[in-house]
Amino acid sequence: MKFLFLPLLIFATTLLAGFGAFKTVIIDAGHGGRDNGGSYGKVYEKWLALDTATRIQKKLQDKGIQTCMTRVSDQFITLPGRVKIGNRFSNAIFVSVHYNFTWKRDVSGLETFYCTPQSKPLADLVHRGMLNEVRTVNRGVKYSRFYVIRHSKHPAILVEAGFVSNSKERGRTKEGWYREAIADGIVDGILAYRSAAQRW
Ligand SMILES: [Zn+2]
Repeated sequence: MKFLFLPLLIFATTLLAGFGAFKTVIIDAGHGGRDNGGSYGKVYEKWLALDTATRIQKKLQDKGIQTCMTRVSDQFITLPGRVKIGNRFSNAIFVSVHYNFTWKRDVSGLETFYCTPQSKPLADLVHRGMLNEVRTVNRGVKYSRFYVIRHSKHPAILVEAGFVSNSKERGRTKEGWYREAIADGIVDGILAYRSAAQRW
């Protein structure tokens, strides 16, 4: 019993340390304007990210949750600019949406990044949310020092929702149903995070 309880206690303490009920979700669509992000042919990461971010925004608003988009059009915004928009808010979480690229063409799947320990529970729940919605390779939840998640004062994560460099996955990212499923998974994760926060 004792041995079962200890990991649970550690898990609970970790959650408690990072949790505050949030009021606003900052949705950061990666890249934009002259920065296409990863691209292959006519498939640009900046468009996939904006479309997914817009779907997330709509779903959260439908649930009565306040949102802020760092960009709503094909606009270039610097990384410090994105952080600044988010950091104007108090009681917020920051979710950056990206699609992935690598020169290794066979690599595919989902990965979610966090930088601070307080962001890990959010990363875990959003990652699980996406994997519940799409059948794909689980590349895991990982630590990274990406600028926007390193400098956000909020719990902050960066989602890589599939590889445009992989032909099969690129085919899926082009489809509305796939981006809708990814958006559903991210929103499910955010809602799970919120209800966990309310229990504490
Ligand atoms: Zn990106």
